[in-house]
Amino acid sequence: MSIEEMSPPQLLAELRAVAAERARLDAREVRLLARFSALRTDLARGVDYASDEVAAELAWTPVAASRRVGIAVAMTDRLPDTVRALECGVLDLQKSSVIAEYTRVLDDAKAAVVEAAVLKFAPGRTVRQIRDKLAREILKVDPEGAETRRQRAVQDTFVRFRPCPDGMAELLVHDRAENLRPTYDLLTAAARRAKAAGNPASTGELRAQALRDLVLGSRRERVVTELRITVPASALAGASRLPVEIHGYGPATVQTLHELATSGNVFWRRIVTDPMTGAVLDIGRRRRHTWALGEHVRTRDRHCVFPGCTRTAEDSQIDHTTDHAHGGPTAEANLGVLCQHHNLMKQATTWRLHQPEPGRFVWTSPTGTTHHVTPEPLTEPDEQSVTSPGESSAAIVALDRGDEAAARWPVLDRRGAA
Ligand SMILES: [Zn+2]
Repeated sequence: MSIEEMSPPQLLAELRAVAAERARLDAREVRLLARFSALRTDLARGVDYASDEVAAELAWTPVAASRRVGIAVAMTDRLPDTVRALECGVLDLQKSSVIAEYTRVLDDAKAAVVEAAVLKFAPGRTVRQIRDKLAREILKVDPEGAETRRQRAVQDTFVRFRPCPDGMAELLVHDRAENLRPTYDLLTAAARRAKAAGNPASTGELRAQALRDLVLGSRRERVVTELRITVPASALAGASRLPVEIHGYGPATVQTLHELATSGNVFWRRIVTDPMTGAVLDIGRRRRHTWALGEHVRTRDRHCVFPGCTRTAEDSQIDHTTDHAHGGPTAEANLGVLCQHHNLMKQATTWRLHQPEPGRFVWTSPTGTTHHVTPEPLTEPDEQSVTSPGESSAAIVALDRGDEAAARWPVLDRRGAA
């Protein structure tokens, strides 16, 4: 059947078939590259010149060839199940390459543990979700190594200036995520306020303007932002080294949190999570109830609940799954985070959304396909937890960067822990 004759469901089915076929061919390429490299090893006295031969043969750049040969060798040597998953079309080349790249820092045994956990998780997940899962699993299996790598990385902070065409330029800041996330949120909050005050510019433009005002301007806007970090109770008590999660960034070592805590910048807030599933049960309420409900939903979903969308809760809206106008209540079980794009899509198209239980979403596409979105547990299910089951594992949200912080930005707020 020609492409022109295909219906939308047939086109989607054909796209799936093409992806599976491409993955099968990519797996064959991986095996060919690894075999070629193995046959050339003796000649090269330990140096990899096999990739140069491949580069010349296929008109790839030597850098690209070296990367692909390296990944192919790592995959066939240490990650045989990943190659098989690629062969069957469970993964594509990009996803399987990410597994090889992330596990490179681990020894063979630990790489195998991480590979098994990630392959179980990977079907139907995006590259971004697989990256986050890899980061979490590596933090679990190798907390000491992860902390050593972090200690090394924090010494490499910098600001770079890059000229761009048309009279523009970029300023790149490379710093700790727990410093930059609140900075970014602060710019977003300032942009929202400007928007609410009637400024017609885009949020992106207004963020840039807010940064300009903060660095070069005399006017200091008073903006409150909050960095959310969740951590399993056992890790908080020092009884485990399970990873924490910086919202809007991803998994991090538990020492990141301890450093923040001792810096005196932290306001502790309790989130109670189910120790078996990691789902959010309750959030310590410091503010008005309606505010707390929205916050609960943002904390629970963390990002837009459309399949694979990574727009963070902080950059999204709270949506009534069943429209308020159609009798949908303002309650946890009927609220979810949607970015502006997917919010508009839900209203403008025949996509349908249901929430069979709080935090679980079922999307039905215009062609009738259903997609299930079950957010990752907020904290890793806590097998080593020292808390009794009834007490549940707790997590915290912290770090108010309040008025004084904004006034003295970028110096961190120095208020004590509450
Ligand atoms: Zn979205």
